Amino acid sequence: KKRNPHQPEFVQAVQEVAEDIFEFMEDKEEYHSQQILRRIAEPDRVVSFRVCWEDDAGNIRVQRGWRVQNNNAIGPYKGGIRFHPSVTESVLKFLAFEQTFKNALTGLPMGGGKGGSNFNPKGKSVREIMRFCQSFMTELYRHIGADIDVPAGDIGVGGREIGFMFGQYKRITNNFTGVLTGKGLEWGGSLIRTEATGYGAVYFLENMLATKGENLEGKTAVISGSGNVATHAAEKIVQLGGKVLTLSDSGGFIHDPDGITQDKIDWVKTHKTHRRGRIEEYVEAFPKATFHAGKTPWGVPCDMALPCATQNELLGEDAKMLVANGCRAVSEGANMPTDLDGVHIFKAAKLLYAPGKASNAGGVAVSGLEMSQNSERRSWKEDELQQMLKDIMAGIHKSCIRYGDQGGGYIDYVKGANIAGFKKVADAMLAFGVV
Ligand code: NDP
Repeated sequence: KKRNPHQPEFVQAVQEVAEDIFEFMEDKEEYHSQQILRRIAEPDRVVSFRVCWEDDAGNIRVQRGWRVQNNNAIGPYKGGIRFHPSVTESVLKFLAFEQTFKNALTGLPMGGGKGGSNFNPKGKSVREIMRFCQSFMTELYRHIGADIDVPAGDIGVGGREIGFMFGQYKRITNNFTGVLTGKGLEWGGSLIRTEATGYGAVYFLENMLATKGENLEGKTAVISGSGNVATHAAEKIVQLGGKVLTLSDSGGFIHDPDGITQDKIDWVKTHKTHRRGRIEEYVEAFPKATFHAGKTPWGVPCDMALPCATQNELLGEDAKMLVANGCRAVSEGANMPTDLDGVHIFKAAKLLYAPGKASNAGGVAVSGLEMSQNSERRSWKEDELQQMLKDIMAGIHKSCIRYGDQGGGYIDYVKGANIAGFKKVADAMLAFGVV
């Protein structure tokens, strides 16, 4: 806290990891003397820059952009770009720190980074978004590269924005290289990248339920968010026989007691992405559903919960409510959606609870596979990639069990993910000496 005043999200993320790592390091003198945790918790660098662009009315707008390169001990920095008014250095530092552990867990050679801007894409025209992306990349390009740092999408940054940024990178450098992931299929992108985070979070859930001899068939799920991760998590739950009851956005949540079926999910995807609409309009299209303004969906009784919107969207009191209502499994699609109180409540209740750094790693894993395909200059088939995604999620699940099995049938997935991710990065750092 003293080293990072006014950075609550970053302090929270480090604290959550430190709780597990201190215990793990107790009898490991080298990690202590080499100050490994402190070194991982100090980004290699934070680049902050001005992003200046012109809106449709001819006004000059000035925004702030960042790239946080947290750690490249096991591979090039890798992590998304977020465009949202809530973006601060603290938010990006927490995301880059988490990303370092998550990327290590995938088993692929990727370090951790994150970037973004406080630019708000809501209400902007497509041409304004294009000009902003171009201006953002005009500075960012000098800090990234296929073997240096490979950004991807995140909140507010989807395929369209990646296209604008890749186009600008190519124009400036005259170089067609895999410098961004989440690209379009026609120009170097990978199949199932778009779906991978949401699908992966559900594969992880499947793995957790299997430890109890259960599956998703007939189970109800409460999901927050209605963006990339939320809609694809919903899609996979429906494919595996579950019933999705809710979706949300920053305006509130919708509850559809009949279940949000595939055709309704398709409607939401088009509505949010192409029409740039609000989730509250769902009830006009599907009148049996209800809209709850300004609320999160955690009070709706369910078997499984998947927070897929943003950080700190599920607080201690929400966690208590979920447990009291009989929720048995939580798989985080978003990054750090549960606050520390909530984490402690899930752990105390011995829920099947997967932290985002384990359960939402599917997206970055397929990004890693996109990097490999770009290096090979070829595209792998969809069924090959689906299988690789499933295998990677099963591998992460296994790593969590290895370090998180508490006996008596309880697996502390938070502890397992923290220790497994930390160990891989820490051992590489030890090999490099004091650098
Ligand atoms: P999108 O921009 O596609 O969707 C974000 C969703 O979350 C929207 O429904 C948005 O609502 C809602 N949301 C955003 N901020 C807030 C807020 N402050 N309060 C309430 N709702 C909010 O983003 P993604 O689906 O890509 O990302 C969602 C989460 O998943 C993030 O935590 C991200 O870091 C994480 N993640 C994403 C990956 C990916 O591959 N895309 C990979 C791994 C993690 P609204 O429309 O009102 O803004």
